[in-house]
Amino acid sequence: MAEQQRTEIGSIGEFGLIERITSPNTLQHESSKLGIGDDAAVMSFPVDHEVVVSTDLLVEGIHFDLMYSPLKHLGYKSIAVNVSDICAMNALATQVTVSIGLSNRFSVEAIEEFYEGIYAACKNFKVDLVGGDTSSSNKGMIISVTAIGHALPDRISKRSGAKVGDLVCITGNLGAAYLGLQILEREKQLYLSQPEIQPDLEGQNYLIERQLKPEPRVDIIELFAEQTLVPTSMIDISDGLVSELMHICKASGVGAYIEESGVPIHPDSEMQALKFGMDPITCALYGGEDYELLFTIDPADMDKVKYLPDIYVAGEIVSQEDGIKLHTKGGKIHDINKRGWQHFEVEE
Ligand code: ADP
Ligand code: MG
Repeated sequence: MAEQQRTEIGSIGEFGLIERITSPNTLQHESSKLGIGDDAAVMSFPVDHEVVVSTDLLVEGIHFDLMYSPLKHLGYKSIAVNVSDICAMNALATQVTVSIGLSNRFSVEAIEEFYEGIYAACKNFKVDLVGGDTSSSNKGMIISVTAIGHALPDRISKRSGAKVGDLVCITGNLGAAYLGLQILEREKQLYLSQPEIQPDLEGQNYLIERQLKPEPRVDIIELFAEQTLVPTSMIDISDGLVSELMHICKASGVGAYIEESGVPIHPDSEMQALKFGMDPITCALYGGEDYELLFTIDPADMDKVKYLPDIYVAGEIVSQEDGIKLHTKGGKIHDINKRGWQHFEVEE
């Protein structure tokens, strides 16, 4: 194997590094008036729009593990999860800023790889990189991304708008990213104990990709705009369906009735869950990081989503007193909460 080049960040300095990583950058939105290179970026949005902003902090060892997350994927995912937060407001992200803290373990080439992922995500999700900050860090890598979007005020979906009788909808499928993480964790442990063994990831590409390379549902937000649909409430699924459903129910002062048969699960997830001795629905309810959308619609809008691809109606909003319940395929009704349900009860 050819030896990889390693340029120390110290040898080109902070300004040299900023220049290296930002030189491939281009701007695509008319709203990006001034990007990287000044003391601040300048944006200009239509006067009747409101600005939507979201920020995330990712800390090595807490939110990501560089042992199985390649830097390029990490860059991609950092942008993806922030764009997903803007989507969850029923808005489209147009700009991002990226700030990084780096220990001297990282070379210039490693950071360029990270930015390759950032630029790939910016292109795919149609956002402009307009600024950021660069610092050294005593230990590991820290990433903070801020995403900025805009929308007409009456198109914004909050967590608080769900009403009794609304339909609960989910995009895509759930549980795959969690199972992908379990596979990567297993391979990491195997590698740590027996480094000579090659990882066996055969046939698990889909699940691993769902973990390492999440895709925010920008496509769904574009479809909503075409259909002139405004979900009554919406949230992106980063912490798991139950956790997000609880956020919507709490913010809206309602309960929810979910059909197990309405929760979309990919066949690969079903298979892998069973191989791990887990219940697929448990992975779908509690596994996070799929970055799909959970939203509610007025039943009068059913025609607008009925024929849209990749949208599943999973249940109904009920009154707060009725709580959050799951109707299983076996015909039983269970209360669901953060701690789990039936097979997933955490011991006291
Ligand atoms: P300041 O001293 O005002 O913080 P910097 O020298 O840190 O300016 O940054 C110079 C320019 O480069 C600014 O436009 C800033 O937004 C941008 N920038 C700095 N670091 C990054 C980064 N990691 N990613 C993207 N843009 C960056
Ligand atoms: Mg700075």
